Amino acid sequence: MTEQILGLHHITAIAANAQRNLDFYTKVLGLRLVKKTVNFDDPGTYHFYYGNENGTPGTILTFFPWESMSQGRAGAGMATEISYAVPSNSLKAWKERLAGFNITITDEGERFGEPFISFSDPDGLNLTLLEPKTADNRQAWETADVKADIATKGFHSTTLSLRKIDATAAVLTDIFGYRLQAQEGNRYRYVTDAVESAGVIDLLELPDGQPGYNAAGTNHHVAFRVADDSILMKFRDKVVSKGLQITPKIDRDYFFSLYFREPGGVLFEIATDNPGFTVDEPLDELGSNLKLPKQYEQHRKEIENHLPVLAQ
Ligand code: ZN
Repeated sequence: MTEQILGLHHITAIAANAQRNLDFYTKVLGLRLVKKTVNFDDPGTYHFYYGNENGTPGTILTFFPWESMSQGRAGAGMATEISYAVPSNSLKAWKERLAGFNITITDEGERFGEPFISFSDPDGLNLTLLEPKTADNRQAWETADVKADIATKGFHSTTLSLRKIDATAAVLTDIFGYRLQAQEGNRYRYVTDAVESAGVIDLLELPDGQPGYNAAGTNHHVAFRVADDSILMKFRDKVVSKGLQITPKIDRDYFFSLYFREPGGVLFEIATDNPGFTVDEPLDELGSNLKLPKQYEQHRKEIENHLPVLAQ
């Protein structure tokens, strides 16, 4: 079993309204809700996981929709863009689709020779759809109106905005096994060869960048993927050996996790493939039941009464 970091596992962001978030990601973007649970540290708030059919690591975007959360601001020391791979020649159809939902394209062009469009989710979270040069062979989740010819394949990359990239780059190269692949202006592309997809991290150097403020419409943390929890603990030793603080192993029910803040300010997590999202509901029912960690099961009624009612 490979003892490498296998690209991205998931990205977690903050929203201010559960229903609006659910509608956008499942109906507009066409992702599958693969798990509906609560914030393990705050069970009065949902935790939504969106991904492909199985919720394969590298496709998972998760949200804490804190009702009426104040607006955050993307900035230095944060992941400031999430980029999804889409099929070749699908961006035109996406532009038409997004226009139909009155969603404005905020940026478009080519980056490292790959065409992209950017826009925001209803909370202002910055999203990009990108046609990779090398075809992404992951099987997309299809919905009634987002079919495989345009459907997202999962993450292509995320962009971290930093005042200075050196120390963050060192974490990527010296601990996580990434290498610098290319540079375009102040954008530095790091890749891992351990995986065929979701293996790209862009570092954007903004020496005068204002620090971000972590609230609605911003990313909370970026999780990197490892195969299992014994490999997870080997990475814990590596992080500690670089003099960085890191949490003990935490059981997130669907994976095991470690968290540490990299020197540039971004909260990093390392998360395992095991046990995965089918641990507590069958594949065809993923996301359709409210799942609670066992410590909250005895309070299910109370929790259900408190959570916003959702139309799915
Ligand atoms: Zn996480």
